[in-house]
Amino acid sequence: MSGRLGPATIVISVNTGKIVSTHDSVLVPSDFPYGTPYADHSPHILLPGLVDAHVHLNEPGRTEWEGFWTGTKAAASGGVTTVVDMPLNAIPPTTTVIGLQEKIRAAQGQCWVDVGFYGGIIPGNLSELRPLVNAGVRGFKGFLIDSGVPEFPAVSSTDIAAAFTELSTSPTVVMFHAEMIPPISESVGDDVQWSLPPLAPIGPLNEYATFLASRPVSFETYAISQILSLAHLAPELPLHIVHLSAIEAIPLLREARAAGVSITAETCFHYLSLASESIRDGDTRHKCCPPIRTKSNQDRLWAELAREDDSVIKTVVSDHSPCTPELKLLPPAIEATALPTPPAEADMEMEKRKGDFFSAWGGVSSVGLGLPILWTSALENHRSITPEMIAKWCCEHTAKQVGLETCKGKLEVGFDGDVCVFDDKCEWVVGRTGEGMLFRNKVTPYQGKKMKGAVQETWVRGQQIWKRGGSGGGFGGMKPVGRLLLEPRR
Ligand SMILES: [Zn+2]
Repeated sequence: MSGRLGPATIVISVNTGKIVSTHDSVLVPSDFPYGTPYADHSPHILLPGLVDAHVHLNEPGRTEWEGFWTGTKAAASGGVTTVVDMPLNAIPPTTTVIGLQEKIRAAQGQCWVDVGFYGGIIPGNLSELRPLVNAGVRGFKGFLIDSGVPEFPAVSSTDIAAAFTELSTSPTVVMFHAEMIPPISESVGDDVQWSLPPLAPIGPLNEYATFLASRPVSFETYAISQILSLAHLAPELPLHIVHLSAIEAIPLLREARAAGVSITAETCFHYLSLASESIRDGDTRHKCCPPIRTKSNQDRLWAELAREDDSVIKTVVSDHSPCTPELKLLPPAIEATALPTPPAEADMEMEKRKGDFFSAWGGVSSVGLGLPILWTSALENHRSITPEMIAKWCCEHTAKQVGLETCKGKLEVGFDGDVCVFDDKCEWVVGRTGEGMLFRNKVTPYQGKKMKGAVQETWVRGQQIWKRGGSGGGFGGMKPVGRLLLEPRR
């Protein structure tokens, strides 16, 4: 019954939190021993709790950007029952076992949903990689371009080759932020012999088109080619491209997969719902890397996802990567509509750079909004998309990517009783009456957007942890029940 829409009953053990039986019909209370807790969710859809395999929780060190408490509450309010935290933007980054231990300490007792951790690959931390696998990281991530924070530098092809060799037989996944500056990004004629390529932005810095042109498709295709050229060093090691944006990279990945390379890709809610043509001047809430591209690019990402044979895009994640409103440098016109309260005093230098897509922090906040975002797009533009497909991309496949395929991502016997109760008919507006933005900083391009489909309840291991419209922001008198997923992968 998992993966197929129809009448169903799911029985979860109160003791273990695991699913003990499933039925292809709606059983009634009298089918169970007297006093058995029973809830009828008809006519809503029961989905496996979402596994968001790409979030940045930034704690410790940049907790004013996001933290375990607020980030996992936001996740819970969107039916997300597991998040996997990226290795950068917290201080220290998760590039050493000591860094992981600091993360674990910071997360303790603060998580409303289950939380896993990735490790980072940076120049010089080779000897930490296998100890990190043994300490329970779900996978690794490295950058082929500046990450935005100094403590997480980009890797060279030599570093990648060494990491592949080091991890070639480890039970893990190695993921890349696949953007890379090609040796020459545009023709400079004979000048190329004695000068650098022109790297300065061409056009006003507050226009989205200027920013988009500065991160061309070739950055993604070039980076992916680099990774593929080294894949032979570890033929058994699963590789993964995070936040794929450019559709031009898809044929490269398809060809590699056909040749036996174990590589997958994910895309994000924002690449499937936002389009460059509609981004207003200065609206830096849309800045992320790789960039949000055209509507036609978006349509083709959807088409790839919906392929019935072998799509190279297996998963859809948030890449929730928040910062403080000050660092987003929102200009006053957008700030007035976006933020409930004006930000704290910004210094003069920051005032001058407001609306500058190049100076603003890159990252879109959306953890917990994914399901309504996909469902709204599905209803409006992509009628062939079904809840079953979304469950594959956001639950089953993400769980598999991070080695949780035996306990998360499916509503089947033996799996954790993680359930998202989804009302596919309900309409609501993000941010109105405080709904849908439980993350720490209320800055997201989805603010004010009308959504179709709302999560009504979220259950983790058989316990209801959040209820739409409920007291205490939906959390009632609950305490955080989330666990840290540190069992090493096998
Ligand atoms: Zn990210």
